Amino acid sequence: MSELETIAPFAEIVEEIRKAGGEAYRYCYQCGKCDVVCPWNRVRDFSIRRIVWQATLGVPDIEQEDLWRCTTCGSCPSHCPRGVEQIEVGVAVRRVAAGYGAYPDSVKPIRGVTASLGAEGNPLHEPRAKRTSWAEGLGVKPFEEGMELLWFVGCYLCYDPRMKKVARATARLLSRAGVDFGILGEEESCCGESIRKAGQEEVYRALAKRNIRTFIDRGVKRILVSSPHCYHTLRNEYREFMVHFDVVHVAEYLKELVDGGRLKLDAAFPRTVTWHDPCYLGRHNGVYDAPREVLGKLAGLRLVEMRDTRRESLCCGGGGGRIWMETPKEERFSDLRVAQAKAAGAEVLATACPYCITNFEESRLAMGEGEPLEVRDITEILLEALTGGDAS
Ligand code: SF4
Ligand code: SF4
Repeated sequence: MSELETIAPFAEIVEEIRKAGGEAYRYCYQCGKCDVVCPWNRVRDFSIRRIVWQATLGVPDIEQEDLWRCTTCGSCPSHCPRGVEQIEVGVAVRRVAAGYGAYPDSVKPIRGVTASLGAEGNPLHEPRAKRTSWAEGLGVKPFEEGMELLWFVGCYLCYDPRMKKVARATARLLSRAGVDFGILGEEESCCGESIRKAGQEEVYRALAKRNIRTFIDRGVKRILVSSPHCYHTLRNEYREFMVHFDVVHVAEYLKELVDGGRLKLDAAFPRTVTWHDPCYLGRHNGVYDAPREVLGKLAGLRLVEMRDTRRESLCCGGGGGRIWMETPKEERFSDLRVAQAKAAGAEVLATACPYCITNFEESRLAMGEGEPLEVRDITEILLEALTGGDAS
């Protein structure tokens, strides 16, 4: 008998899961399609079907490490014949586990992340006061009411050394296109998407409310985001607070700028490029064509597709809070994805998600010195093409 079973009767656990938002498990008839399409089964045994079944019976094992594996990639819900929302079930059980403080060793970093989010508004243990250090010398303005859009930069672009380069490339592209934009600086907090999927609902709600209050107070109407995770949350999940903002991801916005004649892509990028569809841009929000169309405008760019593409895109492994957890080398989906990019003949693996870029860069580095494949954000590619190589 697990520890939880001695604390609460089965019916109470089912009710806890139901209240936490995981009701759809009741429709599961255990066909196992979810396990077939789950990326975990390319690297090790893992069964979301079993977690759904345990939830149905009211006997979730909240101490099992498997509970924390799901990256919320969205593949299994898109293939389930009964419309079961496996992600909601898994997150609901995580909420119960988090409530009892039942974290296996590999998941314990979530405690530090939670503390950092509460104290500084970011998961990277960085001071709030340094949230704009990436923008030094770029002349990026604070957002003011009436500006065309607010750029919600996001934690990784603000603090992570690799992703700061993406922030700088994005700012330079926006300026080049004459976009009247501003940022919130220290008033911006983490969107809360990933900590929510890691079962910390109250932390998410506090972050979301703080951001929403700031958007309303500052008269924000349109929001540009660089992370598909910010995109999903600001666009779809903040609506639970009865607010609506016009949210656009940078991959879509670049297409808007190009189509509107504001960003002229009269430049060449004579390389073979493959586009990786981030889970929260593609499967969760249906944005597949815009980045491909934008890249396709660059002269000499040859776009090739990887084996798993668009709706079947292979997750990088970073969603659902996994970006903060340790994954053994032999279990990293990003290694498989980088291998797929190489097999497709790509010289550049392009995407537009901070978690994907972080994981792909790690996989690329692990391949050793001299690895020719480059990992680039779409903004870096455009800026490099337009400036003849200076994308810093
Ligand atoms: S695919 Fe759907 S119905 Fe089939 S086992 Fe998975 S959750 Fe259950
Ligand atoms: S959402 Fe993705 S990672 Fe999570 S169980 Fe389903 S297929 Fe596996």
